Amino acid sequence: MITSLQCDFNRGLAYKSPTQIARVVTEHWCARNLYCAACHEEQLQEMPANTRAFDFRCRNCSATYQVKSQKQLNLKKVTDGAYSIMVSALKQNVAPNILVLNYNSEWTVKNLILFPSVVFTEDVLEKRKPLAKAARRAGWIGCNIVLSRVPNEAQISLVTDTAIIPADEVREQYRKYNALAKVPWDLRGWTLDVLNVVKRINANEFDLTQVYAHHAALTEAHPGNRNVKAKIRQQLQILRDLGFVKFLGHGRYRTARS
Ligand SMILES: [Zn+2]
Repeated sequence: MITSLQCDFNRGLAYKSPTQIARVVTEHWCARNLYCAACHEEQLQEMPANTRAFDFRCRNCSATYQVKSQKQLNLKKVTDGAYSIMVSALKQNVAPNILVLNYNSEWTVKNLILFPSVVFTEDVLEKRKPLAKAARRAGWIGCNIVLSRVPNEAQISLVTDTAIIPADEVREQYRKYNALAKVPWDLRGWTLDVLNVVKRINANEFDLTQVYAHHAALTEAHPGNRNVKAKIRQQLQILRDLGFVKFLGHGRYRTARS
């Protein structure tokens, strides 16, 4: 549970490197304030860390979180570990969620944004170039997570410009998107794209022709798929099963929120 936005900068006094200071100070804050978005657990357990990232795990539901601390907020992309390991974790729904923690020069947490791993589709996960022959781990392929490609509504704020968002709102939004875990990873890109179209239509009720109107963009995003209209209908059924839309019959739909 977030009780204070102030980090204890004394934690960093024993260190010289700015990266290390930032890590120690923000890690300490996280251990005291992070809660689980996937269940009711009010504190997260710290996991053995490597140099740059540190991770937390929920004792109750096993959800994992990887924290990326930033003094300058950058929601474009973050680097992550091995591409193949990430793909396999995503397929099994065990990949860590990413928390971007942005702090200011007074060591106050300014923004904290949760990116649920369930939306790290093939489009969001970017394969990096293999390391050069001269490198110690030549041929190793890492990945980036392109945060800017995560739909806006799936970017869940825990803290926005030093305002703490109520945990029930955070958990509700997380729960909504986590339903996507039921869709196989390779198909999730489609589901999210059709969901984005529905959001773009931006009406309480809409019909199939309005979704079909985005046919060209969806075809472009998914080349190689010949029957895009059938795919759209299939994805609308998935979105209905996940609770994002309701079917009214005769090709009419209602967004679940209304
Ligand atoms: Zn949990």
